[in-house]
Amino acid sequence: MLEIADARAEVLRHCKPLRTEHAALTTAALGQVLAADILADIDSPPFAKSLRDGYAVRAADCAGNCAVLQVIEEVAAGAVPTKPVGAGQATRIFTGAPLPDGADAVVMQEHATADAGAVRVIDSGVKPGQWVYARGHEMRTGDVVLSAGTPINAAAFGVLASAGKTAVVAYPFPRVGVVVTGNELVEANTRPKAGQIRNSNGPMLCAQTVRGGGLPRYLGIARDDFAITKSLLGEALDVSDVVLVAGGVSVGDHDLVPEVLKALGVTVHFRTVRVKPGKPLLFGTGPKGQLVFGLPGNPASAFVGFELFARPAIRILGGHAEPGPRTISLPLAAPLAEANDRPTYRPAQLVQGATGWTVQPLDWTGAPDLVGMQPADALLVLPAGDARADTGTLAEVVLL
Ligand code: AMP
Ligand code: MG
Repeated sequence: MLEIADARAEVLRHCKPLRTEHAALTTAALGQVLAADILADIDSPPFAKSLRDGYAVRAADCAGNCAVLQVIEEVAAGAVPTKPVGAGQATRIFTGAPLPDGADAVVMQEHATADAGAVRVIDSGVKPGQWVYARGHEMRTGDVVLSAGTPINAAAFGVLASAGKTAVVAYPFPRVGVVVTGNELVEANTRPKAGQIRNSNGPMLCAQTVRGGGLPRYLGIARDDFAITKSLLGEALDVSDVVLVAGGVSVGDHDLVPEVLKALGVTVHFRTVRVKPGKPLLFGTGPKGQLVFGLPGNPASAFVGFELFARPAIRILGGHAEPGPRTISLPLAAPLAEANDRPTYRPAQLVQGATGWTVQPLDWTGAPDLVGMQPADALLVLPAGDARADTGTLAEVVLL
């Protein structure tokens, strides 16, 4: 049985980023990771532009209080000035419009009064460059505006558009095949008969995959039958970079997954991890380097196993530099009174306390309890043994 850190290291040792692809910049690329630097093809802004509605002026003209300037034209965003601003002159200008030649500052309209073709500037401290966004201030032609390794977040879409990009070279989202096992399972559209339960792991793991940066493909329920399980897992291996199989990975007579994986040419690197929930946790690599995670059947265990081991792997395949998960230290919002035989990840919520964020342990009855896990936005990390602690004690927290 491996310790968590050793198991993680073993998983990460087998992870490398997937081959890059050309990705069209539709919102479907949100969360992909850039595989090449992005250079600006133009200056941004492409011209000196006004940051305020007001008047483009020569700062030197406004040195005395209440300078009166002749207004020579009006320029709105999208228009182009036709007249240079000379001494004693101003151009009526609006936010986003190009600054006319000759002008070096903008006086906001709140500091000016218009008066029959002239403007009185009620601001004696006008400085050159005031309310002017200089050409190339944000990016210059040839600048690296986003470097390889950057996840494409919402702001990156805007930056990429500014740089004239409609497609990029990026790491693909890893393809993740999801198989669940168990004679007792029926899908959500079926009312369970005697001895049956509904399959909650399938939909949950597909959703976790999406959130973790993978493309899920659900292959269905494998009965606890060697041939059926082999056929479904074989199909999953054919179409996936990562295979998640939930249930059937323990040591019971009907836990066929380890044997089936061996028959499919998967090398199993470990089968158990000293973690709660979720001790039976298998990791292997397929003939084409596919990563295979055998997660426990109990839903809360499968959930935690995915977050601790599969999600980091999916991230590395997808080109992320950091596998995660992010761990921080927070004071407990309530006392803890429990003892565990293994290091434990239990559901918790971040709550705003009087002096900052704290972590609130949630009611939870253990591995089969997904309803108790569901509200969690964090996992509270407890060491093996006596984990009693008072409110305010600093605790390690994994952010989900
Ligand atoms: P196993 O790991 O196959 O021994 O399953 C452990 C427990 O998890 C059993 O009580 C199963 O019925 C339950 N379980 C297995 N797979 C699922 C699933 N897909 N959805 C909900 N519960 C499951
Ligand atoms: Mg089972």
